[in-house]
Amino acid sequence: MFFLEREVKEMAVFKCEACGYEKEARCKPQKCPNCGGKKTFQKQEK
Ligand SMILES: [Zn+2]
Repeated sequence: MFFLEREVKEMAVFKCEACGYEKEARCKPQKCPNCGGKKTFQKQEK
């Protein structure tokens, strides 16, 4: 692994269902920076 593993564990991956944009964040993004959609993110389980 790499040295950011500990930090990554606290992060979740969210994917915009409107455009497919993926973003790592601790909480669900309110707005997609790619397509501008609001509340389109769904948490991705690894
Ligand atoms: Zn989007």
